[in-house]
Amino acid sequence: IDVVDGNFARSVKNCIFSKSIPTPLKGQLRLAAASKEVIEGILDLDVAVTQSDDFLHYASGGRLPPGSIPLAHRYGGYQFGYWAGQLGDGRAHSLGQYTNRKGEVWELQLKGSGKTPYSRSGDGRAVIRSSVREFLCSEAMHFLGVPTSRAASLIVSDEPVTRDQFYDGNVKTERGAVVLRLARSWFRIGSLEILSQSGEIDLLRKLLIFVIDEHFPSISSDDPDKYLVFYSTVVNETAHLIAQWMSIGFAHGVCNTDNFSLLSITIDYGPFGFMESYSPNFVPNTSDDEGRYSIGAQADVGLFNLQKLLVALSPVLSKQQESKAEHILNGYVDIYHKRIHQLFKAKLGLLEEEEDDGYLIAFLLKMMEDTQSDFTMAFRQLSEVSAQRLQDRDFTQLWALEDLSSHKLFPDWLSVYQLRLIRQQNDSDLDRQQRMRNVNPRYVLRNWMVESAISKAEMNDFSEVELLHHILSFPFVTQVTAEEAGYASRPPVWAKRLKVSCSS
Ligand code: AMP
Ligand code: MG
Ligand code: MG
Repeated sequence: IDVVDGNFARSVKNCIFSKSIPTPLKGQLRLAAASKEVIEGILDLDVAVTQSDDFLHYASGGRLPPGSIPLAHRYGGYQFGYWAGQLGDGRAHSLGQYTNRKGEVWELQLKGSGKTPYSRSGDGRAVIRSSVREFLCSEAMHFLGVPTSRAASLIVSDEPVTRDQFYDGNVKTERGAVVLRLARSWFRIGSLEILSQSGEIDLLRKLLIFVIDEHFPSISSDDPDKYLVFYSTVVNETAHLIAQWMSIGFAHGVCNTDNFSLLSITIDYGPFGFMESYSPNFVPNTSDDEGRYSIGAQADVGLFNLQKLLVALSPVLSKQQESKAEHILNGYVDIYHKRIHQLFKAKLGLLEEEEDDGYLIAFLLKMMEDTQSDFTMAFRQLSEVSAQRLQDRDFTQLWALEDLSSHKLFPDWLSVYQLRLIRQQNDSDLDRQQRMRNVNPRYVLRNWMVESAISKAEMNDFSEVELLHHILSFPFVTQVTAEEAGYASRPPVWAKRLKVSCSS
């Protein structure tokens, strides 16, 4: 731990954390959202405590939990393909670890809680807009079954925060907010990279041993190949995570190595997006001109990031271990393809394995692309339609399937699909629909949905944040309030004009 006092920006050496005191938010604090699941199920508190004045201060950096030594973490990273040097927690403070009643260890972190030694030219703040997005999306991802950080609360303030909105020259004054977020660990690929790049090899080993001991219990500390086994686990789990993102149409937006968790959970929600019309070229972040982090590029970017992780590990690996690690990395593509194949088979309700299954999936996705069908709803409506209606080609009221069925090859595909389903032993049409509904969400956090919740939140009306939070806690269940709000309907025309950028 670096103990130089003060939150002024500087180049920090030979440490993993810097002591850093949060800067309390100015003006009136308001609780915009709280997650009962996290407050009660992880933090062992009664959700009623979130209504207290104390909570507003604890959850926004104005007061520290007893015994807490707030820390900002030093990390580096490759940003958009280039080594960026020191990055670090520029607007986040780790408050410490909490071991809950279930024996789980969680690391609590405030985001938007002021400057740290890693703030570079930033102000250490996060605006309401991006904080609402992180709060809602991290919770939504959890309920979609994707490994992710969690969010306990969202506090908004009156503190003015100036942001250059969409690189169109418009500067807008917004308000500061803090999310209390949790993860088993916030260490990233960049946490190891900075130590390796700076030649701080003893510290690199120390951090690796800590991470392995805390989070990879199946790896023995006496194993001479422990770093190799660790690497192999990260390769495997990263492939699985990205396959899961792809299966729900999630594009992270900024897949830099500093935003890739060593525990392969989704972290650092920024200009993410859920794909609507199917396209591998979908780019959620309008600042990403080249589409480096398009949805379809994520698997390759995962490979790039894992290559960089291997470079970071190489000082602690022998030559022989390094070549084994390269071999492990070469297995990534195959692990990814196997995983995504399984996930998409499940999305189509397919059991067992047939030779042409890959073709059936690829053919469907190509038709979705050609017809710009809505990815989420096309799969969902295939899960809700009976075999009889498929047989009758009856897609009335099923808007995404209506779009898809405009493809001239759709009837051919459907015939193959129907025959494939009929060949399944011990399966009924109802079972098939039920299985598919459990993996094909009806509701995802579309940008236009969150946009309207943000506009209201900016006027201190948090009702729509609450509504979305509730609905997205049951993404696989049809809900009246969600249907009334149009969350499973064709997206409004204005949704296409929405932009999100890194500015947050
Ligand atoms: P990101 O890619 O958004 O996760 O962030 C990249 C780096 O920029 C991280 O080191 C952040 O801590 C830092 N950063 C982003 N916004 C701010 C801000 N407003 N103030 C200080 N640092 C920031
Ligand atoms: Mg980040
Ligand atoms: Mg070496």
